[in-house]
Amino acid sequence: MTDTTNPLLADRPLPAFSRIEPGHVNPAVDALLATFRSEVERLVADPAARTFDTLMQPLETLEETLNRAWSPVGHLHGVKDTPALRDAYGEALEKLTDHSTELGQNRALYDAVKTLRDGADFARLDRPRRTLVDDSLRGFRLSGVALESPARERFAAIQNELSKITTEFGNAVLDATDAWTRPLADAELSGLPDSARAMLAQAARDKSLDGHLATLKGPVVTAILTYADDRALRAEIYRASATRASDQGPNAGQFDNSARIERIVALRHEAALLLGFDSEAHLSLADKMAGTPERVLGFLHDLAARARPVALRELDELRAFARESLGIDDLQPWDIGYASEKLRQRRFDFSEEDLKPYLPLDAAIAGLFAVAERVFGVRLRQRDDVDLWHPDARYYDVLDADGSVRAGFYVDLYARSGKKGGAWMDTCRNRRRDNDGTLQPPVAFLVCNFAPPSADTPSLLTHDDVVTLFHEFGHGLHHMLTEIDLPSVGGISGVEWDAVELPSQFMENFVWKREALDLFARHWKTGEALPDALLRKMIAARDFQAGMFLVRQLEFALFDFRVHLEFDPARGARALDILDEVRREVAVIVPPEWHRFPHAFTHIFAGGYAAGYYSYLWAEVLSADAFAAFDDAGIFDSVTGARYREEILAVGGSRPALESFVAFRGREPDPAALLKSYGLAA
Ligand SMILES: [Zn+2]
Repeated sequence: MTDTTNPLLADRPLPAFSRIEPGHVNPAVDALLATFRSEVERLVADPAARTFDTLMQPLETLEETLNRAWSPVGHLHGVKDTPALRDAYGEALEKLTDHSTELGQNRALYDAVKTLRDGADFARLDRPRRTLVDDSLRGFRLSGVALESPARERFAAIQNELSKITTEFGNAVLDATDAWTRPLADAELSGLPDSARAMLAQAARDKSLDGHLATLKGPVVTAILTYADDRALRAEIYRASATRASDQGPNAGQFDNSARIERIVALRHEAALLLGFDSEAHLSLADKMAGTPERVLGFLHDLAARARPVALRELDELRAFARESLGIDDLQPWDIGYASEKLRQRRFDFSEEDLKPYLPLDAAIAGLFAVAERVFGVRLRQRDDVDLWHPDARYYDVLDADGSVRAGFYVDLYARSGKKGGAWMDTCRNRRRDNDGTLQPPVAFLVCNFAPPSADTPSLLTHDDVVTLFHEFGHGLHHMLTEIDLPSVGGISGVEWDAVELPSQFMENFVWKREALDLFARHWKTGEALPDALLRKMIAARDFQAGMFLVRQLEFALFDFRVHLEFDPARGARALDILDEVRREVAVIVPPEWHRFPHAFTHIFAGGYAAGYYSYLWAEVLSADAFAAFDDAGIFDSVTGARYREEILAVGGSRPALESFVAFRGREPDPAALLKSYGLAA
């Protein structure tokens, strides 16, 4: 690292954003990767390097050095992109991906870590160090590097085929989605709001047509099923959408994913067996909090038993409403969204626009900080001597009760061009202690895309926006309040991914509580507090049809988990049979026989959620149950807050999430908390 002019290689506490140019990216990454490779070679060649301090610490240093250079690049790519930066980023990302694959397949490095694990000194290491070693070994094993020939070659071949076939699965869904369109007569637009009509007109223009065009894109399908008065149109689009990429429906057989589902499930099963697991479901749980199939299934069945009676009541209510108010006597799946929207409008006549004047951004930020101070004892102080990438960006020191700087974080909140959409939290610096004892405090990025202020109005948020702000800040607290000095198991790193949303969803709860809203939700002109009636409506609207929502999620989760758990080469994947069985247990709305939901379930057949879809609900239980710990003493109780900070936030990934949860709550997570948070009697 002799290039002292490259700001990405400069050794300074925070990145010099204003000096980073696209031309710096690849020279910095090349230099760091070259050092990384030669250091790894040196480490594995040195038989003395088999202790934590001589093997794992140097690896942590190499990783963090790389992260210090790469995180500002990834960040700028997200918030201030240019064609030149995008090219440099893409080129460097490829090198980093290759590097990480190469590292995961480094058998000599695996052997070195294993020697350390098997050595007498291992037991004397502290908990975070032992966890780091075990996590590292598990990563190696799951990548197949520990296998011997010919299993090793077979495993690699399976991974290649899976990567190809899951991509084909996703492409078939995209192609099937694009292949179907239908021009709409003016009369068929009845019921659709202006925004939906504009979307349908745009769809027509995209195909150089006049008028309005229905497509199978998600927002179009949702708009038609929710608003279109024309029942036959709803039925038609429902059928076209529900049979995409299958052997049924208007394009039956053209993009059929049936054989791919069989092959994907079979290959995953074979790979899991090679790694020594009983099934893909067992393999999936190797790095998740839920741990065993029994716990996942027990959790899902238990939730189903409690949610289904509620969902049945909600459906009866909807049927009665449809009969009496809409003249629909035989409520069908394509009527559900439509009738529900009409019922929702009748019950809760308010819109996000009614709320926005009470939620100015600056007040929401101040409220967020006030919550953090009361519950976790940290204060945030803005600094104006930090090099930033845009005038809208801000930097804050996070101060502990004694005034010491514990962490830092950047915020960049307004939408603008060159900035990726959505909201996210990312890490800039990881907490890390050098061998000489120097501590690098953690630093986070918090990025949102809120409406900027105008000449005469401040930035006003929707309630959803405020939820997002608190959610991302929750991830930020996890990163910033860690007390683990090893980046790989500190903060968010190393946390099982079915538990990683606990701290973020936990923070969302505050935004639904009167006491917390009173800290900031005031009309920006009059100073009037958010009216009680409006808050009650918001909460009722949130809980509307919660039972029906839950059983639908349970149907997806149980299907995904059982398909990956029960595969038997003699019987095949049995995807449709299993789906039938699951529906008999949990569903309240049974779709027609031709429905082919699995054929477009890209989450699990083209994405990373195989045997992991349950984690959405799992994480909600964790956050609801953790927040319920504040029920007795109040949501700002600093004693409970300190315990949460110590047992959940501070420990990061240095011990199993289940252990952390039990340490905080005194018991395992209770699904009843989720039902209660949805306003359902537990
Ligand atoms: Zn999140």
